[in-house]
Amino acid sequence: MDERETMALLVCDRTATLARIATSSADIANIIAAATDSNIDDEHDPEGATVAFERAQLANTLATARAHLGDIEHAMERLAIHEYGRCESCGSAIGDERLQALPATKLCVRCSARQRK
Ligand SMILES: [Zn+2]
Repeated sequence: MDERETMALLVCDRTATLARIATSSADIANIIAAATDSNIDDEHDPEGATVAFERAQLANTLATARAHLGDIEHAMERLAIHEYGRCESCGSAIGDERLQALPATKLCVRCSARQRK
């Protein structure tokens, strides 16, 4: 992959991630507004528990998307200083296949597997 292709992938991923952030933020706002309108009691109303669960899930989605956005922006900076595609843990080349699938990744397959353990 050359730098232009990589940048195109990152920009595409960034656009999708920003859309995901906007959607989940709007959904959370809607849930909060709906809960306020109907005066649901989060603690005791069974419907309130569902709302709380949905809100927690959305908050989780939102946090993941925001973290991913940070990774994408980090990858863009690395690209600008010609450090992109190098594993940030062991320093070896990450490999095109992995970068194409996960353009914002910071780690090679081996280091990523090691971190998950
Ligand atoms: Zn590595």
